[in-house]
Amino acid sequence: MSRRRILILLLLIAGLAGIWALQRKQASTEVTPRPLLYLVADTQRELERIPLELTRVRVEEENQIGEELARSCGLTPANTKDPEVNRIRDYVNEAGRRVTGGVQRPGIHYRFHYNPSESFVNAAALPGGQIVIGRGLLQLLESEDELASILGHEIAHVDQRHAIGRLQYELQSRKLGLGGLYQLGSIGVKLFQAGYTKEQELEADREGLRLAVASGYSAGGAIDAMKRLERLSRPAGAPAVSPVEEMARVPVQALQEYFRSHPLPRERIAAFEVEIAENGWKIDAARRPLAIRAIFLADEAEEFDRRGFYDKAIRRFEEAIAAEPKSARARKGLARARWHSGDAAGAATATEEALRINPENASLWGLLARALAASDPVNAPQRYAAVETALSRQVPQRTLWILQAHQAGLDLFVGRPRALENYRELVRARMPPENEAEVRLQMAWWMYRSGKLPVALQELDAARQRDPDDAQIDIDRSWILSELGRHADAKQEIESVEKGDEVYALQAVINWRLERRDPASDSFRAAIADDPIWMEQRWVANTFNAPTAKVLAELRTAELVRRKKEALRAVHPVGAAKSN
Ligand SMILES: [Zn+2]
Repeated sequence: MSRRRILILLLLIAGLAGIWALQRKQASTEVTPRPLLYLVADTQRELERIPLELTRVRVEEENQIGEELARSCGLTPANTKDPEVNRIRDYVNEAGRRVTGGVQRPGIHYRFHYNPSESFVNAAALPGGQIVIGRGLLQLLESEDELASILGHEIAHVDQRHAIGRLQYELQSRKLGLGGLYQLGSIGVKLFQAGYTKEQELEADREGLRLAVASGYSAGGAIDAMKRLERLSRPAGAPAVSPVEEMARVPVQALQEYFRSHPLPRERIAAFEVEIAENGWKIDAARRPLAIRAIFLADEAEEFDRRGFYDKAIRRFEEAIAAEPKSARARKGLARARWHSGDAAGAATATEEALRINPENASLWGLLARALAASDPVNAPQRYAAVETALSRQVPQRTLWILQAHQAGLDLFVGRPRALENYRELVRARMPPENEAEVRLQMAWWMYRSGKLPVALQELDAARQRDPDDAQIDIDRSWILSELGRHADAKQEIESVEKGDEVYALQAVINWRLERRDPASDSFRAAIADDPIWMEQRWVANTFNAPTAKVLAELRTAELVRRKKEALRAVHPVGAAKSN
């Protein structure tokens, strides 16, 4: 029998033994999938202990192999249209390059790829320095030092020839030469994720940490990251102890993938601690902030805001701002979440800060005016004008017109003399036609809030003549008509408007005023299913006049009563039926 045949036979026996052991284990233990996954990994690792004589591949050849593999695994560094994805990739590259400073094989062309999938909770190293990290893992990290330890580990798999060795082994066992690379196809990344022995993993930890420390990162980063993963490896259902854990909406399955491909975090932490003590490294040095963390935090904060968890959204936006003070997205998000929560004063402050970063954003100027009017009506016009004076040089002409409409609106709202006349002169004399519909739409809202309902209707009519397709004009007219008691007209306004939370809320209000309680409640439920903001009384009071706010409050109470009844029925299904 040739050597190769013996090898194949050995592999076959080992494989069958592995399957047998797996089935036995399955039969005897039925706990979490974790031990099972470890067993799979262990079986693979056993296979690899079969000795193989591998010829050394030259560095240039390894670089070429790596590039080819990266291409076949779809890791090409193409620029995406998403600027945030590009930013994350560049950031990972920069940190990765820094960590490669102390490698033993400097001829390797390191390249760091980013996989934006949340279910990719892992990192992998391919031969030739092609390294990939997934969003799922990246969003669990809190400092650049943690990232450096993860990347250091992967770099070490390349530097210590684990990656190229793994490839050679795979090709030999499939009786393929280096030319058979393409046959590995998409299994490529998986091969390098889970394919190393435990000794190789621990060596990659040691060497990776040395690389990270040599390039100026704190050795504590590795411990921080491992401790968090250790906590996350606890059975699902355990209460989250930190916002980051709560943030990790990572499917358990996806996280298991990480634990399957690495030794237990506890073991790795112990090894790190020995290494750190032996080298006398300090672990209490300040960690470098993970700048891109603001992106993940803002993503989650926006999700909380959409789902009506405004306090959580506010906290998360604040964390995002702490991670990246100049994040326009987080600043704007914080202002909006505070406004949604009913905190008008807090919204005004946050909006002012958001405008300093993003003064061309017209909707922020509108939010500032509304937040000031709700929280400090007496001083609102002066405070608004002060922000305008500070930033007006950076405001484009288009936005400037909207801004002036809000200024005029605030004057009207606080009852300044001649406010309406001044606005009309402004519109007649100078306003470019392309601004007219938007300016009139904004001004009409202030007319409505100032109790001038018929004037507001006329203003919306004028806006509609300029822009017949803007559905918001129909919606705003409908709110006003309903408040005037013109229910049929109010209904007609929104008949052909595409349904969304605001249209549902309007239908609910109109029906409630017509004493048609059931259809009103149904529509209200549709509105809050789309956007729970309609249950937020303070936001309602800051947005609508008292008569409409009152109807919305009654709808809210009816909904709360309904929920209570439903909860009772769920607890006592039989008893409730009997007693009725
Ligand atoms: Zn590894």
